[in-house]
Amino acid sequence: STALVWLRRDLRLHDSAALAAATAEAERVWTVFVFDTTILAPLPRQDRRVDFIHAAVADLHARAGLLVRVGDPRQIIPALARELGVDAVHASHDDDPAALARDAEVAAALPCPLHTCKDHVVLERAEVLTAAGRPYTVFTPYKRAWLQRLRPQDVAERVVRAERLVRGQDALPSLADLGFEASDLSPAVGRGEAGAQALLADFLPRMDRYDETRDFPGIKGPSYLGVHLRFGTVSVRELVRLAQSHSSGGAQTWLSELIWRDFYHQLLHHFPHAARLPFKPEYSAVSWDDNEAFFEAWCRGETGYPLVDAGMRQLAQTGYMHNRLRMVTASFLTKDLGIDWRRGEAWFAQLLLDFDLAANNGGWQWAASTGCDAQPWFRIFNPVTQSQKFDPEGRFIKRYCPELSHLDAKQIHEPWLHGGPAPIVDHAAARERTLARFAVVKKDQ
Ligand code: FAD
Repeated sequence: STALVWLRRDLRLHDSAALAAATAEAERVWTVFVFDTTILAPLPRQDRRVDFIHAAVADLHARAGLLVRVGDPRQIIPALARELGVDAVHASHDDDPAALARDAEVAAALPCPLHTCKDHVVLERAEVLTAAGRPYTVFTPYKRAWLQRLRPQDVAERVVRAERLVRGQDALPSLADLGFEASDLSPAVGRGEAGAQALLADFLPRMDRYDETRDFPGIKGPSYLGVHLRFGTVSVRELVRLAQSHSSGGAQTWLSELIWRDFYHQLLHHFPHAARLPFKPEYSAVSWDDNEAFFEAWCRGETGYPLVDAGMRQLAQTGYMHNRLRMVTASFLTKDLGIDWRRGEAWFAQLLLDFDLAANNGGWQWAASTGCDAQPWFRIFNPVTQSQKFDPEGRFIKRYCPELSHLDAKQIHEPWLHGGPAPIVDHAAARERTLARFAVVKKDQ
C-alpha cells in the first residue's frame, strides 16, 4: 500500500512518530510540507521563523525528496492525496485550536483516512489525569503523576523505515518565491536536524549543572533547543531519554522543564478558553491600564530598569529570551505597568523563535497570576532585586545596554541613582497599584 506523510511541526526524519507509523504500514511513502499562505500572508517580509522553517524544509527536500507545496493545505493535501492515489495520509497531532480546525477540514475533504498520532509531546491530552479523572491544573502533582505514568514505550525511538520513502520531484521554492527576504536569523540558532544535534552536543556536557546555571542570563545555562522542539527538528523523546540517562540534579531539573512543556499543552487541550481569557475566570474582574507609551517603552526595552530592558532587547535582536527574563519582563508589564497580559503575549508571539501557543499562554498567565500558579496572586517581582540576584555583575545587562557599561556591578542595577534617567514607573508605587488592582479578585473569593 501507499501513504503520504504531511509534516508540520515535525520537520525531521529521525525518531518521527508519523513517519514510523506510515513506513510500518505502507511500502511506498511520500512526504510533503505545505507553506501555508494563510499563515504566511500577514507576516513581515523578513521573518526569522520563516527562515528557520525554510532551512529545515530545504534539508528534508535534499535528503528525502520531500514534496514542497505553497498554498492552502485544506485544498492542497486532499488534491495531492488524489494525485498520488495514496491509501492513507498520516500526520502528527497539532493541538493548537486553529490547527485542529484545519485538520478536521482536511480530513473531511480527503479521499482516504487521515491517521494522526502523538509526536510533539511525551504525554498528551487525557493521558495524565487525577484519580477522579480530571485534568491537573497545578504543576507539581501533574509532574508526579507524569513520572508515574511514563512507560519506556512513551519515549522509545519511533523507528522510521527510510528505504520506503519515495523521493518526490518538486522543485524547492526559494524564500523569494515565497515573497520573503532573508532575515537576520543567527547561525548560532542551528538549522534543521543537524543544527539541533549540534546544539544538543553542546548542551550535554552542561546538562548536569543546569540546575545551578539556568537562572543566570549572563551564562550559557539552557539548551537553546526551544525552536527545534517547536518545529520538531529534534524529537522530545530523544531529549527525555538523554535526561533519564543522567542521574544528576541538573538532568532532573531539565527533565522537569520538558514536563512543564507537556503540562501547558494538556492544559490548553482541556481548557481552550485560556487561549483568550484568564485561566481562572474570577480574574476577568481585573481591569488593566491602557498606557500606549508604557507599552511601547516596554517593547523597545526603554523602561529604565536595566534587566527588563536587556531582556526585551535580546528578544527583539535575536528572537530568543532567557527564561528568567521572560518571567521578569512579563511580571513587569503586568504588575509594574498594569498592562493586560494578552498584549505582552501577542508581542512575544510575534518575536519568539520558539513561540508556542500553549507555553507562551501558560507562561504569561503564570506571570500575570491569572493562570496556574500554586503561589497566591500577590507575587510581584522586584526588577531591581531580580537584577542584583540573577545578573550580579551586570554582564548580561552590558551586552544589551551598552549605554550602562560605565557602571560597576553595584551601580548598574539602579542607574538613576548614579546620574542616569529615572525609570518610567517607581516600583514601590506600582506595587501598591497592583495590590489594589488585584483586590477585586480577593474580595470576590
Ligand atoms: P531550556 O531551559 O533548555 O529547556 C528545554 C526545553 O524545555 C525548552 O526548549 C522548552 O521546550 C521546555 N521548557 C522550558 N521551560 C519551560 C516552561 N516554563 N514552560 C514550557 N516549556 C518549557 N517556551 C516556549 O517553548 N515557547 C514560548 O512561546 C514560551 N513563552 C514563554 C513566555 C513566558 C512569559 C514565560 C515565562 C515562559 C515562556 N516559555 C516559552 C518557557 C521558557 O521560557 C522557554 O521554553 C525557554 O526559555 C526556552 O529556552 P531553551 O530552549 O534554552 O530552554
